[in-house]
This record gives sequence, structure tokens and C-alpha cells, in this order.
Amino acid sequence: MRAILPPSMLGILGGGQLGRMFAIAARTMGYRITVLDPDRSAPAADFADVHLCAAYDDAEALRQMGQTCAAVTTEFENVSAESMALLATLTRVAPSAECVAIAQDRMAEKRWINQAGLPTTAWLPVMTDDDLQGDLTRYLPGILKTARLGYDGKGQARVHTADEARAAFAALGGQACVLEKMLELKLEVSAIVARTSRAQVEVFPVAENSHRDGILDISLVPARIAPDLARQARDMARRLADALDYVGVLAVEFFVLADDSLVINEIAPRPHNSGHFTLDACLTDQFQQQVRTLCGLLPGKTALLSPVAMVNLLGDLWQPDGTPPNWDVLMEAPNAHLHLYGKAEARPGRKMGHFNVLSDSAASALDQAQALYDTL
Ligand code: ADP
Ligand code: MG
Repeated sequence: MRAILPPSMLGILGGGQLGRMFAIAARTMGYRITVLDPDRSAPAADFADVHLCAAYDDAEALRQMGQTCAAVTTEFENVSAESMALLATLTRVAPSAECVAIAQDRMAEKRWINQAGLPTTAWLPVMTDDDLQGDLTRYLPGILKTARLGYDGKGQARVHTADEARAAFAALGGQACVLEKMLELKLEVSAIVARTSRAQVEVFPVAENSHRDGILDISLVPARIAPDLARQARDMARRLADALDYVGVLAVEFFVLADDSLVINEIAPRPHNSGHFTLDACLTDQFQQQVRTLCGLLPGKTALLSPVAMVNLLGDLWQPDGTPPNWDVLMEAPNAHLHLYGKAEARPGRKMGHFNVLSDSAASALDQAQALYDTL
């Protein structure tokens, strides 16, 4: 497959912050960008040459994208398989519709992970109430998660008994779910891999992730785990990408258990919030990797230039009247890098931006990041 070179037009489905950072990376390299997003003020629109302001299943908009773009990718996993398939008849699409379909369904995802010989928590597919009538002790206490459309901890219920599981299934509207055994987590980490159609792979350093109210709060790199465990995580991410014959950027979330074993929690077929540290702390960042792999170029080297802490900035930090936080101290810190997504309206829980703090160790980056956060 021939490499796609600038100034070719690249397309992205979705114009949120991930689409915006993809567009910035692509335009920096000299590519042109078409964004499909129904929101007129989509964050990526600021950096798009063409903004197709239409629904994600709008056949006319998809056709235009397919006919004018040398390749198309996505910033989110909930694109319909039909949209991806239509695009694939017209242009290069990566990741493939099949890979996106796997990542958008927790059942398919866990099946693939297990088939690749990689561990997940014990899980049970739940299609109907009958699936919850048998012996559930293997999965309890557990978490019932909708198979589709869950994010930031939404569409999940913690259950301790079979009765609670059945009640939660009904409360979730009886849609397809998985029941997962709740594990005791020592840490959560992620590894992001970039892979081309010729199986050239680079894996980013492992990030240690902490969440607040189900939303990623802070990522620390290097993760404070044994080097051998970090190697295992990167190796698993690579094996999974190979098993899927994946093309593009794939994020893999892991749980570290009490005995220092790893299980895979979930995957995302795109750059990931926990990879935003790469924007300032790696030789190549995850959005450049997305451009490179989409265009059939070798993935860039992923070496870490400095320990780093990435802190998410949610809309809660803004005043109800829209006044932004006080950036004075953060902007004066020579080792801090602010990234704002250009969202006009701040809402609680809405991701507005993030900042990276570089220091000589992850622990000191974390201390400094927390001190800076407290000044906002
Ligand atoms: P989302 O798609 O919303 O990110 P996740 O499956 O990643 O959903 O779950 C969100 C968070 O809930 C995880 O980051 C983890 O902290 C916790 N969690 C999820 N599944 C389990 C589990 N089986 N055992 C323990 N904690 C879990
Ligand atoms: Mg998750």
C-alpha cells in the first residue's frame, strides 16, 4: 500500500478533543483535514479545512468524505458499522470497521482478548434475564456493564447478589450486558500501541491512571510498577494489536491486581485520554502516530523524554457564568504545558483541557502538578 503524503486530505469521524488534536498533528505535517461532526462548534472544526456538519450516518456527508479524503479515521468507537463500511468502499479506513465493532461491544472485546490468549476478569454475557438465573458465584461481587455505549463509568452497576444483578439488568433496560467479577485493584495502567498494515509496531511507555468519579483524573509516567510488569503490559498490548491485525492507534487499559498480575480491562480503537502525556513527553505523540499509521508511514519512536504527570481539567473548574480558572501560576511554570480544547461551554464532568508537568521523577511531577492544580 502506497504511503499517503502531504498535502493529501485526511478525514476524521468526530470533532471532539481527540479529533482536534489529530487535526493539529496532521496539519502540522502539512495534511489537510475534513471533520464530520454534527456540532457546529465542534472543537476540531477550528483546525479543519472542511467541516461536514452532519450526522455520523448521513450518507451524503459520508460519500463526500470518502470521495475527497485519501484516508479516514475515527476519534470514537461508537460509529456505526454501516458508516465505516460505506466509507471503506470509497477510501482507506483505519482502524477497520471490524476492529471498531469489536471495541464498541464489551462482549466481542472480551472474546477477542481471551482468544488472543490474554487475561480478563471472569465475565458472563448477559443477553436476557435467563442468563442471570444460574450460579453466579464466579462473578460476584461484580459489575454489570452495558455491552455498548458505556464511558466514564456510565452504564454500570455494582452488584453483590444474584437478585441485585437481576434488578440492575432490569434497571439498565434489559439491554445486552456483561457481568464482570469485581477485582481488588492495586493500580490501573494503560499502554498505547501504534501499528501499521505491515505490522510495524511502536508501543508508548505505560501510564499509571487514577480516576475520580469514574473519569480519568491523573496519568503518571513512568507508571510506578516494576519494569518487568511494564514490559508485560506493553507486550500484551502489542500481542492484542497483532491478533486483531490492527491498523492505527490502539489503547489498552489494564488492572494491576494484588499479586502483581495484569488483566486487560478494555480497549479503545483510537488515541486515549491516558496518552495525552505523549504530547509533551515523548519523541512522537499519539496523534502523530494516528496520522502516520493512517497514512501508511512507519510509526515514530516513542521514547519518554521526561517523567510526566498529566492532569485533566473538567468543567467543574469553571465558574457557572463561564469564567475560566485562574491560569496565572500554571502559565508561569516553565515545566507545565496547558492544552485547552476550545469548548465554549463548561459543564460539570466535561473534559475542557489538560496539562502536563515534566519533572525528574513521576513522584515529583505529581507533587508539582497537584500544587499547580490547587492554584486554579
Ligand atoms: P468505562 O468504559 O466507563 O471507562 P470501565 O470498564 O473502564 O468503563 O470501568 C470504569 C472504572 O471502573 C475502571 O477504570 C475501574 O476503576 C472500575 N472497574 C471496572 N471494572 C472493574 C472490575 N471488574 N473490578 C474492579 N474495578 C473495576
Ligand atoms: Mg475505561
